[in-house]
This record gives sequence, structure tokens and C-alpha cells, in this order.
Amino acid sequence: MVVIGLEIHVQLKTKSKLFCKCSATYRDVEQNSNICPICTSQPGSKPMAITRRALENLLKIGLALNCKIKIDERIYIQRKHYFYPDLPSNYQRTSLPIAYDGMVSNIRIRELHIEEDPGRYELRKGLVDYNRSGVPLVEIVTDPDLRSPEEARMFLEELQAITGYLDATREEPGSMRIDANISLEGGNRVEVKNINSYKGVYTALKYEIIRQGNLVQKGLKVEQETRHFDEAQGITLGSRKKESVADYRYIPDPDLPPILVTESLVTGIRNTIPELPRDKARRLVKQFRIKEEDAWILVSEKEVADLFEELAKEIDPQACASWLRGPLKKQLNYRNLLLKDSGLSKQHIKELIQMYVKNEITDKIADELLISLFKESKSPRKMAEELGLKTISNVNEIEEIVKKIIKESPKAVEDYSNGEEKALHFLSGKVMKETKGRASPEIVRDLLKKLVGK
Ligand code: ADP
Ligand code: MG
Ligand code: ZN
Repeated sequence: MVVIGLEIHVQLKTKSKLFCKCSATYRDVEQNSNICPICTSQPGSKPMAITRRALENLLKIGLALNCKIKIDERIYIQRKHYFYPDLPSNYQRTSLPIAYDGMVSNIRIRELHIEEDPGRYELRKGLVDYNRSGVPLVEIVTDPDLRSPEEARMFLEELQAITGYLDATREEPGSMRIDANISLEGGNRVEVKNINSYKGVYTALKYEIIRQGNLVQKGLKVEQETRHFDEAQGITLGSRKKESVADYRYIPDPDLPPILVTESLVTGIRNTIPELPRDKARRLVKQFRIKEEDAWILVSEKEVADLFEELAKEIDPQACASWLRGPLKKQLNYRNLLLKDSGLSKQHIKELIQMYVKNEITDKIADELLISLFKESKSPRKMAEELGLKTISNVNEIEEIVKKIIKESPKAVEDYSNGEEKALHFLSGKVMKETKGRASPEIVRDLLKKLVGK
């Protein structure tokens, strides 16, 4: 049996860092520009009480993951000691659990606590950038309830959808790091550290199953160890030196008051939690009678689900769902974009779907118009008119072209007469090419069937 447990670190969305007023922006700014004596641990500096928004965002996530919250208890912030150039104080501040005993799709959530991110040490250049030092993180720890890399990936996708709905975390490259723990058949647990994408988690776990399985097959023992993920090669690597259990010498930070969460704070936050992806998917299926698998894909981003609901009032819901999850998602994924960051206007997408659903443009032209919307924000209806992209559904007009193609392609015509279905695709492809993708595919197919036999 495969046993997997995850420790997920995500940066919380805040304006300022966790223990000072410096801006939490650390990407695309000059090195060491957002720093102060506190987040660089100058002698005599003292941390401020934790940034309230960071705690609120952590509580939001905890509640959305169905956790219990530690209310009216002192939650100490501890110092976790280790030595590395990115950690100017030589300890990382990390709280005791704030939320605990949660559950998401049958995976138990053990606890959530808050931490500060260290700076960034660039080994090759030998430079340290403290802009990230003190950026707030939540660590989400699951119980070892996951049973396969696929399940881990699905869990992470749902978690990402949830945090996106809550608008509680940063969604940018590097904002998330995951430690994946995995053991086989009751053997020792291996912890793969610092993976920074869901795909990476999946790849690392797949690799570990094979590596550990091979050891077991040879009658060797799997060592309990920490390994590192090499993203470029898709493998995990052991540390050269055998690691002893790290002695972090945890102590409560004497400079910081413990965190205290009140009942009224929790109630206030509970009221801000929107309908979450799982519930939304169920409702969309029920309300609009769309396919369940389409609903799941639509709800992965709130903006997409909201757009669907808006459009489904006017346009056939299943046609909308199919187009949003198909062509639209494909173009977004290809560009590694969310709808909300894509710059696409709702109005333009609406026009495009309307034209497509009413057969005013073919699916090929709809794709082309969508692609051009990423480059230029312009009404697709206008574009279609100006460029003459509207579907040709005049049978006589298409018939002329079909006849021409039939005359030009005696070989394909003969093959089709001999029962080769593929030849029909070839012929209709030629007609489409001739019309620049504008001929109604249904009419082309009917005409070909009718005329080729003759
Ligand atoms: P530690 O105290 O060493 O961090 P924990 O018991 O707190 O260990 O667990 C850390 C992570 O390892 C959790 O996500 C947990 O689900 C996972 N884990 C615990 N036991 C196993 C196991 N046998 N196989 C895989 N993962 C495990
Ligand atoms: Mg741990
Ligand atoms: Zn600072």
C-alpha cells in the first residue's frame, strides 16, 4: 500500500510582511529594497505583533478546510533554529497550530500554522536578497491519507481552487512549496522537500514509488530520510551526507506575544467565506443540468464559474459549459493563465460564444478569434464581420466549392467509393481549406456524401 502525507506551504496574501511594515512584494523589485532592521534581524530590533490580515487569511483557509480553530488559547510563536545565509536571525518564527482537525474530500487536515518565509540565497552569485524575509506563509499539514500520486494531485487541485476562491493566498510562481512524505507497505517514510508545483509533486511521488519498490523487491530496506526533488530530471536525490534528526531547538519567541483568536473574529471570518468549489459544482449540475465533469472543470476557477452562470442565463448552458471548459481552458492553460489574469473581456467571450452557438462562425474560426483576443481587445463580432469570417451556410455557394474539390481529387473520390471513410475527412479538409475554415462543417459533410457517390 502507498501512504502519502503532504506539508503545503503557501504565501498568504498581505500588503506587509509578518512582523514588520515592509511591503511583502519581493518579485520584480530591486534586491534588498523592501527591508528594514526587523526583517533583517539587526541587533536591538524587535518584531511587531503579527500582521492581522495574515492571521485572518489563515483562519479563512482553516474554516474552508472544515478545521476547528484554537479559540481563546495562547498560541505561541516559536523560534526554529537553523543556519543558512537566507535566515539572518538564525531562527525561523513559526507558530503552534492555529487550526486543526479539518477534512477535505476524505483527506484529514491535521493542522495549519503560520510561519515567516526566509530570504533568498542565490548560490551561484553568492548574493542574499532579504525582500522575501518575513513574508507570511501558512503551512497546511495533512494526515497520511492519500493513496496515490493521482489522488495527491487531485487533492492539491481542489486545495488550490479553494484558496483561489478565498483570495487568501498569493498566486504567482514560487508562492507555494510542498514537502511530500511517502512510504510503501508499512516501510520507512521518505520526505521529499521543497517541491514547487503540483506537477512536481506528482512526478516526485511516481518516482519514489518506483525507487522504493525496487529496493523492497531486492530485499533492501528503505531508509527514513529527506530527499530533494530535481525538477529538471524528474527524480529525487538523497543528501550526500546522512542526515541526523535536525535539532531545531524550538523555544517560544520571548519577543512576541502569543496569538489569541477570539470567537467573534472567527464568526466574522466565517461569514465572508463564499460558496466553495465542491458545492458550486454540485449546484451547477443541478441548476443547469450540465455534465458533472464539465462542472468540475468550470469551478476550478471562480471567475470561470461566475462567467458560466452569467452566460447560461442567455445561452444554452451545456453549449456554454463545453466551450468554456474546452477551447477557452485550452488556450488559458497553454498560456499558463487564469481567466482573471488573461485580460480577456467578459463581453467579448460572450459575443464569441453567442456567435458560435448560433452557428454564425465555425469552431475553427471561434478558436482563431479567441487567439486574436489574447493579442488585441476588440469585439470578435466586429472582427468576424471585417475579416469576412462568418460561416458560409449558403448551400449553393458551398456546393460549387465541393464540386471543384471533387474534380481535383479523383484518388480520394475513388478511395471513398471503395469504402474508405478517411477519404471523406481528406475531402472535407480540402473544402475547409478552400473556404479558410468558414464553411459549415455539417453542410460540407452532407454535400460530400451526396455528391461523391455520383
Ligand atoms: P514529523 O513530526 O517528522 O514532521 P509528522 O508525523 O508530523 O512527522 O508528519 C509529517 C507528514 O508526514 C504529515 O503530512 C504526515 O501525514 C506524513 N506522514 C506521517 N507518517 C507517514 C507515513 N508512514 N507515510 C507517509 N507519510 C506519512
Ligand atoms: Mg514536519
Ligand atoms: Zn521589514
